[in-house]
Amino acid sequence: MCGIIGYIGNKPANDVIFDGLTRLEYRGYDSAGIAVIDEGAIHVRKDIGKLRNIRRLLVDDFASSSSIGIGHTRWATHGRPSAFNAHPHGDCISSIMVAHNGIIENFMKLKKRLSDEGHEFKSETDSEVLAHLIESNYRGDFRQAVLDALKHVEGAYAIAVIHQKHPDEIVCIRKESPLIVGLGIEENFVASDVTAILQYTRQVVYLDNFEGAVVRRDGISFFNITGASVEKKAVQVDWNPVAAEKGGFSHFMLKEIFEQPQVIRNTIGGRTSEEEGKIYLEELKLTGPDIYRTQRIVIVACGTAYYAGCVGKYLIEKLVQIPVECDLASEFRYRSPLVDANTLVIAISQSGETADTLAAVKEAKSRKAKVLGIVNAKESSLTREVDGLVYIHAGPEIGVASTKAYIAMLTALTLLALMLGKIRSVLNSEFVKEKIKELKILPQQIERVLEKHDQIRELASIYKHARSFLYLGRGFNYPTALEGALKLKEISYIHAEAYAAGEMKHGPIALIDDQMPVMAIVTQSDVYDKTLSNLKEVQARSGCLIAIVTEGDSEIRHMTDHVIELPAVSDILSPIINVIPLQLFAYFVADLRGLDVDQPRNLAKSVTVE
Ligand code: GLU
Repeated sequence: MCGIIGYIGNKPANDVIFDGLTRLEYRGYDSAGIAVIDEGAIHVRKDIGKLRNIRRLLVDDFASSSSIGIGHTRWATHGRPSAFNAHPHGDCISSIMVAHNGIIENFMKLKKRLSDEGHEFKSETDSEVLAHLIESNYRGDFRQAVLDALKHVEGAYAIAVIHQKHPDEIVCIRKESPLIVGLGIEENFVASDVTAILQYTRQVVYLDNFEGAVVRRDGISFFNITGASVEKKAVQVDWNPVAAEKGGFSHFMLKEIFEQPQVIRNTIGGRTSEEEGKIYLEELKLTGPDIYRTQRIVIVACGTAYYAGCVGKYLIEKLVQIPVECDLASEFRYRSPLVDANTLVIAISQSGETADTLAAVKEAKSRKAKVLGIVNAKESSLTREVDGLVYIHAGPEIGVASTKAYIAMLTALTLLALMLGKIRSVLNSEFVKEKIKELKILPQQIERVLEKHDQIRELASIYKHARSFLYLGRGFNYPTALEGALKLKEISYIHAEAYAAGEMKHGPIALIDDQMPVMAIVTQSDVYDKTLSNLKEVQARSGCLIAIVTEGDSEIRHMTDHVIELPAVSDILSPIINVIPLQLFAYFVADLRGLDVDQPRNLAKSVTVE
């Protein structure tokens, strides 16, 4: 999720690597480290904190003449941010060093096996298993040891590895996390992101999934996971550094929208067993008795996280059959909430620093409720206040208007609801197995929705001058309508209001005329006919209808040309896919209006004030 750079050449490796890491700073990180090979020995320095504060340790006091090494900025997913959890990670005798981005899903099993074989672990991370696995597979051939190690690994990775006995090469390989190789003269680079190396070279090879490279000073050989060599072509990257940070997308928000399939994989990663129909949420820390004792759940959050919470209410009530209330944290804290020791309070926050949510948690704790946090940022204030946690693993989110964190919150809430429903015997293993299977194919289905970006841009160009929008949805997708309207407001500054479709006739129908676009979500099977009737009411009053429907829906095609078709998914997963076209629509409207999408006026990414 965060940054990797590897260097081999003639320059001082520490300088080049440190410089590369600073260019990856925009992604956010909690710690950093560098490992080099110098005169036949590996040296590693790492610490928590900002690069400028640890420069002395990483570069100035690191008197080395090395010209080969790897560096990493970490955004913790497994194990708290700390010096010993920072990368690179080594094997038992520190002869191998690995910088890893991603999540090793089966690391617990691997760590247990390796520990039983006598390997000694120094960190709490998932990544460290890679170094020990490579150590145990090493028979003199460095590249082969990496390939053999990866045969045991499930999950996502981009890795750069150095070996003391092979001081003239860096081995790198990727699956699902990005990795590139940069070509220089008498020097070569590995990086997770072109930004890290643009000041040295613009000749770049993009590795595909399951492809790797042995990078030497004077040449590079490419191979795939089977060990076969592959031909790769370098491309000339013309981006300026700012464009490069955005990975070629025009804004961080768009980049983050496109990252969402991978985000879902990361949120689910290592937490499900399809064979057994089980969900594992390792940091949940709720005991069986806690779960049985719970009579009520109260979800507290703000903004986008609140709308994720509203979906959570529908999910938990359906799958766990416990009454759920979803409240705005700013309201909850001042309304003498009725919570007690039998109430589970779930606080949701991307940053974990949202002031109102933190205050709501304190209020809930003072009333003896158990509190669970659903959070993106490790070691944030919220993580220290709660009894248990579900990390959403969305990675750093830079666009102020949240997209990928919302998707990850919904995915985490779905996992939580399935797990609680199973423990409370509302759901059987067959049902959970089925949903795990569906969750796993969701990323591919979302990729198909993302391919519709041109169609959605076209719709945005038709409606970009509208003064006001109405968003409609029912059931699980009423919150989707709320979130869609929020996205439009936040970045396009167009007024947008969301209503439960059945509620439209109780007031907002008065607004409908041929100047009022209505964005309707009509995919949910059990309320399909009812929603359709509401849309007929819109049509009868000349409202302009844009409909999000399931592929093959011919009924709505007869009512409007403005239809966005999505792959069929089950109702409980539909909020995760349905919001994607709404995010894209808001993005394109704002962009076509020439607005600053990533930094909308008056908004802050992390709202740390009341
Ligand atoms: N999962 C790894 C860790 O927590 C890698 C994190 C990253 O990609 O920065 O150390």
